[in-house]
Amino acid sequence: MTTDRSNSAIRLAVMAGDGIGPEITAATLAVLQAADRAFGLNLAFEDAPIGLAALRAHGSTVPDESFARAQAADGVVMGPVDTASYPEGARNPSAWMRTRLELFANIRPARSRLGLQPRCGKPVDLVIVRENTEGFYADRSMFVGNGEMMPTPDLAIAIRKITREGSTRIAESAFRLAMQRRKHVTAVHKANVLRISDGLFLECTRAVAARYPQVKYEERIMDAMAALLVRDASQFDVIVATNMFGDILSDEAAEISGSLGLAASINAGTDHALAQAQHGSAPDIAGKDLANPSSLIGSAAMLLAWLGERRGDDGLARASAGIERALDEVIAKPEWRTADLGGPLGTKAFGEKVAAALKA
Ligand code: ATP
Repeated sequence: MTTDRSNSAIRLAVMAGDGIGPEITAATLAVLQAADRAFGLNLAFEDAPIGLAALRAHGSTVPDESFARAQAADGVVMGPVDTASYPEGARNPSAWMRTRLELFANIRPARSRLGLQPRCGKPVDLVIVRENTEGFYADRSMFVGNGEMMPTPDLAIAIRKITREGSTRIAESAFRLAMQRRKHVTAVHKANVLRISDGLFLECTRAVAARYPQVKYEERIMDAMAALLVRDASQFDVIVATNMFGDILSDEAAEISGSLGLAASINAGTDHALAQAQHGSAPDIAGKDLANPSSLIGSAAMLLAWLGERRGDDGLARASAGIERALDEVIAKPEWRTADLGGPLGTKAFGEKVAAALKA
């Protein structure tokens, strides 16, 4: 479908974040601007500062104005954040955005790129669909208060929250995605120990599975799954998991596929989506032009695909596929890779190569 975008720009809020965030965000914007030109998308970028820079300039790691800008935008591009170095009580931008915009699905693909050997086993092409608002993330899963507490100096408790609604909607996301892929869903759990909470998670996933008879459905225990990914990750298509299991497995899967620096993701809800790399702010390489921006560039491509599907807009879908092709083309050449993949290019130069490789 051709869309007339002359009057209505697609507004993207840009939150650069901490550590390598500003560098990989700048490289991602260069690619999005090239996609805008090549595909006539009419993108408009709005700066929405977060993190330590925002704390210094505006007194908060998520200023209300930045959040309002992100909430009003069509989509958000967010760099990683270094919450470990925030002062006590400072807002955690990831948690703030995920809970307040109800971004309940964290979609984390791990795909081997052309010409790049996986770290182990055969080439992989899987997607981890991670529940994003509850589970073991006790610092953000309560309506009021915190799910982690210390009743005495020698007793610490963390509460893991699993709901029927949360489990059902993440399972729905996984099966809908599987229908567009190889029609295979694996649910990851630890119901042999967490009989009640992961029992509820599995009850919900099975109920959704029954509505998708075309999709092959399997269940794997979390610890076995960690081993199975190393043994042969190529056998998996869509993996659905509660919050922390999904987080851990997706770092493993991304690294198996080639590098954490390749790991894209979006956080999506019913009304909002936020592009965010899977990795953290990598303070060890920040400010050195060493980071691989593929993760955030790929995340931005996922955001365009999400927007395209929502709006029935083929141009956005084609731009998303174009960015993926450009990433493949650049990463395939050893001399165009970044340091994490053994190549000579810096963050900025890599972004420029991807932007230049974009073709409508
Ligand atoms: P967090 O707890 O926020 O996930 P972390 O410090 O535990 O953060 P990362 O920031 O993800 O973990 O970094 C883990 C390792 O991967 C570091 O050595 C880092 O330099 C490397 N790394 C992460 N992202 C990239 C990237 N985009 N390019 C190159 N190396 C990266």
